[in-house]
Amino acid sequence: MRTNTTRIATAIALIASLQTLQAQTPAWTRDSQDPKATEVWEPVPAKVTTTTYGVAPSDAIVLFDGKDLSQWQGEAGGDAKWEVKDGVMTVAKGGGIKTKQSFGSCQIHIEWRSPAVVESEGQGRGNSGIFIMGQYELQVLDSYESRTYSNGQAGSFYKQHAPLVNATKKPGEWQTYDIIFNAPVFDEKGKLQRPATATVFHNGVLVQNNVTLLGGTQYKGLPVYVAHGKMPLGLQDHGNPVSYRNIWIREL
Ligand code: MG
Repeated sequence: MRTNTTRIATAIALIASLQTLQAQTPAWTRDSQDPKATEVWEPVPAKVTTTTYGVAPSDAIVLFDGKDLSQWQGEAGGDAKWEVKDGVMTVAKGGGIKTKQSFGSCQIHIEWRSPAVVESEGQGRGNSGIFIMGQYELQVLDSYESRTYSNGQAGSFYKQHAPLVNATKKPGEWQTYDIIFNAPVFDEKGKLQRPATATVFHNGVLVQNNVTLLGGTQYKGLPVYVAHGKMPLGLQDHGNPVSYRNIWIREL
């Protein structure tokens, strides 16, 4: 009796799983042998023009083109006080900066340079950071030949994910980050529905492979999510004269 019951239960489970599989398979893959049946023509992907790698594509929002800080403000409001010289902006006294515009899911291209004159070690050496949505820090640090905790070195999501490899160039050389970021989703009550995920290339090398962020960056304690909508992109002032150039973003 018991064996029969088990057999019946197994059969029901098998039929249910087959039905689920069938429901997930579109009709045209089962019934049609016409190659046209699997062609999708709409919607037509928007046309974007590009030149060479790193140059902003036609649909990007340019956040810094070397001329001025018109897209930026101080992290606490007011004017952005960083130095702009020879097409480059450099961290200066006066705190971090953030964009005037807010963004959600996005693709970001940003170029940065650690000071050529090396001072200090570890977290004190060429420290800055890209604060995506003002919350999630992708670390900027001179990790060329300077050891610190792995989840705090260049290419890490600070204290959440160490980079897969260390692709850091020598201090004084320009480096690139290309970031694909999917914003977290919250319900109307502020409860997390889907955490943020991110993929990052450092100098063209994959360092973060679709990682799940655990919440906003914390210096002490564990990361925590606090519900938010679109937010400005921030750049950190950690007291080191780190430079930036050619920053653009594409909303996704
Ligand atoms: Mg930092």
